[in-house]
Amino acid sequence: MGSFKYPMKFCSTCSAPVTVKVPLGDNRPRAVCDACGAIHYDNPKVVVGCLVVAGSSVLLCRRGIDPRSGFWTLPAGYLEKGETTEQGAVRETWEEARARVDIDSLYTIFDLPYISQIYMFYRARLRDGRFSAGEETVEARVFVERDIPWGELAFPVVDRTLEHYFRDRRNNEFPIRSESIKKRPIRRQP
Ligand code: ZN
Repeated sequence: MGSFKYPMKFCSTCSAPVTVKVPLGDNRPRAVCDACGAIHYDNPKVVVGCLVVAGSSVLLCRRGIDPRSGFWTLPAGYLEKGETTEQGAVRETWEEARARVDIDSLYTIFDLPYISQIYMFYRARLRDGRFSAGEETVEARVFVERDIPWGELAFPVVDRTLEHYFRDRRNNEFPIRSESIKKRPIRRQP
């Protein structure tokens, strides 16, 4: 906990400088405004996305932006305020892969405490067979299991979700898979 940095230097309410300290009644450091007393909590972010299935294939996007530009990922991104996680997953799938999908169910949940993120992937079906590269994607493609570019996947959560899926598919049962991801070294560029 103590190792996390507080990027905020000024209060977003009144623009006065903030000080990092443990507020009264709290148990960890927060950015507290010296002038108005506002406490600025900095909590984990939620990333939502879809494992889009089209027949025996799954939809992957090759990233056109950093981090991990050039690597393949599942369409996913930060949940926005006012959205449900399901709505966010559908929206991100449209933005990154221009794919309209129907959600089946929540499938994988990952804790990534080292970067304070939570990932949630839904299983979804491609509605009309159409998809293309969205703004932050250079290429959208469907892959059968034997063609998955395992060495060129962008993030461990993508590896794990695909591994779970192809294993669970043999039994046609898809229970929610929940796990924590430990940090691991960045792979080479493809
Ligand atoms: Zn303030």
